[in-house]
Amino acid sequence: MKSWCLLLVLTLIQSVGLGQNTLTLISHDREINLNNYLYAYVDTSSALTVEEVMALPAKSFKPIPKTGLRTNVTKDVIWVKLTVSNPHNTRADVIIDFIDPSLEHIELFKFTESGLLKYATGTGLNPRDKSVFTNRNSFLIDFPRRQTTQIYFKVTSLNYMTISARLLDDGHALEENMEERTFLGMFYGAILILMVFNLLLAAITRMRLFFIYGLYILSIAIFTGAADGFTPFYLHFLIVWTDGYQDMLTAAFSNILGLLFMLEFLEVRTWSKSLFKIVTVFAALVGVSILGLFFTIPSYGFPLLNLYGIVGLVLMITGGVLGTVRKIPQGVYYLLAYILFGVFIVVFILNLLRVIEYTFLVQYSIHLGYISSIIILSYGLGVRIYKLYKSDLLREQEKQHLIEQQRKELEVKVEERTRDILIKETNLRAILENTDSAIWLIDEQYQLIDYNNVFSRLCNEVYGTSPARNQLVLDITPLSAEKKRWKERYNEALQGKGGIFIDQNKISGQVHHFEIYTFPIDSGGQITGVSVFARDITIRVNALDQLKSQNKALQKVNKELDSFVYSASHDLKAPLASIAGLISLVRREEDLQSRQEYYDMVERSISRLDQFISDIIDYSRNARLDKEAEPVKFEETIREVFNDLAYMTDTRDIEKNISVTQNVIFKTDPTRLKVIFRNLISNAIKYGCSHEGNNRIDVSCDVSARKAMIKIQDYGPGISEVHRRKIFDMFYRADENGTGTGLGLYIVKETVEKLGGKIKLETEEGEGSTFIVEIPNAT
Ligand code: ADP
Repeated sequence: MKSWCLLLVLTLIQSVGLGQNTLTLISHDREINLNNYLYAYVDTSSALTVEEVMALPAKSFKPIPKTGLRTNVTKDVIWVKLTVSNPHNTRADVIIDFIDPSLEHIELFKFTESGLLKYATGTGLNPRDKSVFTNRNSFLIDFPRRQTTQIYFKVTSLNYMTISARLLDDGHALEENMEERTFLGMFYGAILILMVFNLLLAAITRMRLFFIYGLYILSIAIFTGAADGFTPFYLHFLIVWTDGYQDMLTAAFSNILGLLFMLEFLEVRTWSKSLFKIVTVFAALVGVSILGLFFTIPSYGFPLLNLYGIVGLVLMITGGVLGTVRKIPQGVYYLLAYILFGVFIVVFILNLLRVIEYTFLVQYSIHLGYISSIIILSYGLGVRIYKLYKSDLLREQEKQHLIEQQRKELEVKVEERTRDILIKETNLRAILENTDSAIWLIDEQYQLIDYNNVFSRLCNEVYGTSPARNQLVLDITPLSAEKKRWKERYNEALQGKGGIFIDQNKISGQVHHFEIYTFPIDSGGQITGVSVFARDITIRVNALDQLKSQNKALQKVNKELDSFVYSASHDLKAPLASIAGLISLVRREEDLQSRQEYYDMVERSISRLDQFISDIIDYSRNARLDKEAEPVKFEETIREVFNDLAYMTDTRDIEKNISVTQNVIFKTDPTRLKVIFRNLISNAIKYGCSHEGNNRIDVSCDVSARKAMIKIQDYGPGISEVHRRKIFDMFYRADENGTGTGLGLYIVKETVEKLGGKIKLETEEGEGSTFIVEIPNAT
């Protein structure tokens, strides 16, 4: 494109022929405000052709204000006339730009001296037209050299219009075009991001604040779009639908949303009920009145909206001031946002009032006001979210801190308690362990809760098992009878009835006696288990037994002593008395024969005494002396006894049958053995062979490694049943007239028992007697 880069200098020259200002291109300049050269004619019929307009008298065209011609929404056609003179020798290419991009349609008619009428719509002469918005309000025009050119613009727009134009060189136009594109690109980019961001936040957080804010930003985009051409181009249907009054609706809508946003953002309800009411009522008033006007006299809406805008702004700034004063979070951001917005609105209103010119700043004042306020508010929102997050974080940290503190306190407490419990446990353990009783505790399921070492040792000794905690206590014993017994004891204790029991158990083959106590474990009125104490009382029981047997022995000794004293006095006195009597008889007796008889009688008495004393010695020896264990030969012993007793058998012919079977070494006390044989054999001679014909004595001895079975049998009168049971008693004589001491069988029995053996009598009256003695081998 041919560059027209000469600078133009504006000079006002009164065009004589037209009586109107003609623009003379004198020098080089980059930009000229054309408002001083523009003349407008309003065709209310909208039907005039360009020719008819050209034919109109010059005074029909009125100069437009320096700040531009502002119209309400109208269906009128506005014809704008411009006269340009090019005194130079070169053709001048310039760009005429109508500043208001919301102008929807401009047709251009060019009339030169050659009469050539050229016309073009603002289809734009690429790339200088604002094709990005397709608002065809920029025109590249060539002015022929040394000519004055008449230009008519036919402007129609179903919107508020500001007719204000500039003349630019193409380089400057391109530059400005780029600037505008960049500005609007950034503006709508920011708007879109903020809107989507807030709507997404609303969807995520379900907070009304973000939703209102998102809608507010959207309404602002539509409102500003009306001023920069976005809305007519992209939302043309809106203009058609609102009959050109879409500005009114979107401005009202954004006003209401802005106020609602304030209520949410500053949480007005929480600190000023009256402001909240005022704002709510006002927002409702804006909505109702604008809607009402829209359907009645929409043209009144615009000034009313201006009024509402100012009141709304005052309310917002008031909210901001009060919020700031009351230190409402983010109040200061709100105040700042709307002060800034207010400044731009003032700029916009000043233009409306034609106080200032329609410039780039004026053109985009609403944009700038909104975007700056939105950025500040968004920043404020961000700060608020951050503070919320931070306070949440702080709260969380405090909570964590508190929890940590509580945890530490708890730990200390637990530690203290654990220490206490450990000390108690140690003390209890000491009590448990420093006793000779077995102690164990079970729960309601018969499970071992605890036990001491004694219990553990006893389980090992009695059952050969080691107990373990939580094991079933009934499993310790393998015996089902014991299991049953213990289960009954536990059940009784679990029902609150403790008990005392005595048990016998074998440990290493020896019977041990245990005294057992069961106690219910009462945990706060509820029985939760059983504690058992078992004490080995074997020593006590044995001592008791021993005491009993000692008592018995003492009783026996007493009895024996009694009878001994009685018998001794009798048995000692009787022979002595008879000896004394016989001696006095002997003194008086002259006859030698008789004397001899008396001496014989004295001798017999002495021999009885002797026998008695021997028996007493035997008895005493047996009772007193410890037993010995020496090898004995039974046959020899029996024969020795018969020899010793030869004085008894001399006068009689006794048949002695001795039968001994001894193939082993047999140890016993030989003296005691002899006492046994001597007494039994002497009795057999004395009583068993007392009658004629009964002179046989059988002595048999069957010796094995374990014991010796001795039988001494006679075939005498036997022993009647009445005596049978008593003949082993001390001083008992079956025959009162007998010469015996009544000690023989008693000594035999005592001696046999001392040797660990047994004695038995088999006898029938008239059939003889058999004494059977069994003696264990002492090896
Ligand atoms: P004693 O010194 O009187 O013989 P013992 O204790 O030896 O005392 O005997 C008790 C009594 O038993 C005798 O008095 C006698 O009557 C009776 N007795 C003992 N052995 C026999 C026997 N083999 N046959 C019949 N009676 C006997």
